[in-house]
Amino acid sequence: MKIILLGPPGAGKGTQAQLLVKNHGFHQVSTGDILREAVKNGTELGIKAKEYMDKGELVPDSIILELIEDVIYRQKSGEKNVIFDGFPRTVVQAEGLDKLLKKYSDKLDSAILLKVDNEELIKRLTSRRVCPECNTVYNLITSPPKKDELCDICGSKLIQREDDRPETVRNRLRVYRKQTEPLIEYYLKKEILKEVDASRSPQEVFTSVVRALKL
Ligand code: AMP
Repeated sequence: MKIILLGPPGAGKGTQAQLLVKNHGFHQVSTGDILREAVKNGTELGIKAKEYMDKGELVPDSIILELIEDVIYRQKSGEKNVIFDGFPRTVVQAEGLDKLLKKYSDKLDSAILLKVDNEELIKRLTSRRVCPECNTVYNLITSPPKKDELCDICGSKLIQREDDRPETVRNRLRVYRKQTEPLIEYYLKKEILKEVDASRSPQEVFTSVVRALKL
């Protein structure tokens, strides 16, 4: 099964992907996590990606498509159940993914759209904290760590993502509306889009996601 999690930054794509990994054995492919790791390690990919990420802009499609082929087909020798988190982000990426799936005789099963309004997104993004080691996501208001600002799982000091600062958050939302929102139409036409109200608690949203995917 191959699934896409679609929705604006802060909609909870990473959180829902982590729940699908934990409860249903999916393999999560988060282009954001892969790029952040590359930036941290100072690789060629990281150096190229950083200038876009710092501004809240999208990394060029060609770089992302190359990375996806590498991660899901070349390195992992064809993972069966994959959840794409934060990919595709443009129509060009969606078309590229279709081509890639065809090349490997694979197909996309569902695109889940997580819907949340702008005001709630800004609140969520600016109070989000992440673990730089294991990528677990927290929210200081709705799902804080047990011990202040330390990861419940590995004990590392939590950080605020550079691009979760208010100025960058506003640009990321603009970029989403302009470049990523057209994907709703794209997957509606393919008749694989399922909408979920993602303004509720992570567990309530997860119940709807599981139902939408008929898992
Ligand atoms: P995310 O963690 O998914 O919010 O991604 C953080 C940043 O990484 C984005 O603001 C983009 O700069 C970059 N990024 C992640 N995924 C993609 C993608 N599929 N296409 C282009 N840029 C991406």
